[in-house]
Amino acid sequence: MQSIDLFFPSLSQPFKAVITMHQKPDGDAMGSTLGLYHFLKALGHDVTVISPTNWASFLNWMPGVDKVMDFEQQRHAATDLIHQADVIFCLDFNVLHRTKHMEQVLTEATCTKILIDHHQQPQEEAFAYGISDTSKSSTCEMVYDFIMASGHGSLLNIDMAECLYTGLMTDTGSFRFPATTASVHRMVAHLKELGLNHTRVHDFIYDSFLENRLRFIGHALLNRMEVLYEYNTSLMYITKADLHKFDIKTGDTEGLVNYLLTIQGIKLGAIVIDRDEERKWSFRSKGDFDVNTFAREHFEGGGHKNAAGGRSSKGLEATLKDFKEIIKQYHNQLQ
Ligand code: 5GP
Ligand code: MN
Repeated sequence: MQSIDLFFPSLSQPFKAVITMHQKPDGDAMGSTLGLYHFLKALGHDVTVISPTNWASFLNWMPGVDKVMDFEQQRHAATDLIHQADVIFCLDFNVLHRTKHMEQVLTEATCTKILIDHHQQPQEEAFAYGISDTSKSSTCEMVYDFIMASGHGSLLNIDMAECLYTGLMTDTGSFRFPATTASVHRMVAHLKELGLNHTRVHDFIYDSFLENRLRFIGHALLNRMEVLYEYNTSLMYITKADLHKFDIKTGDTEGLVNYLLTIQGIKLGAIVIDRDEERKWSFRSKGDFDVNTFAREHFEGGGHKNAAGGRSSKGLEATLKDFKEIIKQYHNQLQ
């Protein structure tokens, strides 16, 4: 993978681009792809954003989201676009299998592939150009840096500002995680100067749920949480019946894992959701406990040091049992 700067000259020749992201895109994935989309459109390129799967409805206000294709819904049309593309931008994921059913089409595509991402251990050989920087708060910050470094910063507009602010805000936990650097705040200042209404973005993302989601959180905290004080770990599980009873949709479970870390002294929060296809894990940690490694070693996953995900193929009960067994080897690290 060559440095992304070497791609800048190509920005002045019109090209056909596809921009994609990880499955079940979050604020950073959708924000960074749409931010880049508006930028490349402003430069006159032919651009399509393709998501591997559907996404949470709290992202549906974002400028340009109505043009995003869902690969699972429009498989043929999306595959054709990938085959016709000159350039494919891959944002906010490190390995192609995080695009689920798109992995094969992306692997087979022979055009120029570009990575912009902040996860650990990227699949560098899959990309012609790219930038992978785990010190960055978000892929949105990296897209902003890309735009500014390209020499076309004057094209930044309010649509790009809203999209890029979204991922900056969600991936930093509203500007509280350690990766919230001075550069992050300088970027916010610049977006504000462009006219960004940050309150509007916060309201759309955090205050636009239905009643059932809040009741679901109440149920989960009351009946589905176990605190393993010996390991400074808080564990939560969500059953299929819970998902059904509260009519839980994509995105409704986002942020639930963060409640686990609000208990004094807790260093590891783990939640497993009994989805149709797999038991999906989310891990969050405070301090030195590295959930990226933990998820990689035990749950076919990965992510960042303090936020990662993974999966288990066993049933829910067996999965919980496995977790309680595995955690024993981390007793010392969790003190
Ligand atoms: P979340 O728990 O919010 O789904 O994910 C936390 C972080 O870990 C995100 O940066 C996400 O991209 C990453 N992540 C989640 N699941 C996986 C996974 O299965 N594999 C890898 N490599 N990263 C994941
Ligand atoms: Mn991200």
